[in-house]
Amino acid sequence: MKLRTGSILVAMVIVGSCGGTESTTPALGDAGCSAGYPEQATSRYVLPYSPGSEFMVGQGNCTDGSHEIDTSQAYAYDIDMPIGTPVIASRDGIVVVVVENWSENNDTPGQENYLIIEHDDGSIAGYYHLTEAGIDVEEGDQVFQGDSVARSGNTGDSSGPHLHFEVATCEDCDTLPVNFGNTREHQFGLDEDDAYLAE
Ligand SMILES: [Zn+2]
Repeated sequence: MKLRTGSILVAMVIVGSCGGTESTTPALGDAGCSAGYPEQATSRYVLPYSPGSEFMVGQGNCTDGSHEIDTSQAYAYDIDMPIGTPVIASRDGIVVVVVENWSENNDTPGQENYLIIEHDDGSIAGYYHLTEAGIDVEEGDQVFQGDSVARSGNTGDSSGPHLHFEVATCEDCDTLPVNFGNTREHQFGLDEDDAYLAE
């Protein structure tokens, strides 16, 4: 078959987020999502990817998408990254949940691979949509901030490859506002559609 010349290549940017819907973040100050962030300088969290790498926030906090304001997911982040990107522990803790049996691109709610790490104050960090067999730690393991613990993916209810990262007061509790000590200033959380370099 002869290749046609002059055809237009339409580039589509796939932005990953949970729930498969586009979202926008309301202006800071709307409905209170700008409140409650701790001081970045003393943050106990680092970005959940390797130092020297930079990724874009596909969905921020308090959106009109799946991280909707006044819901348990309000303070979650969706960070766009290719399948297989190393995911690192954002804070020290104990591995309490490992789910890694679901296949890539299944596009089915409830069929996401994820890792939950519990911190010394009882709060947890959740790392979601990981790739199949993509978790490198076991339940009960002690992990330290910066340890490589998993590889990202696109499992479960996900519109494209990304890492959903959240911190909550406990497993199945509301998410908490967090910021990260190893990147540029973001007083009210990471901004949607901005990229952040892990330093
Ligand atoms: Zn999400």
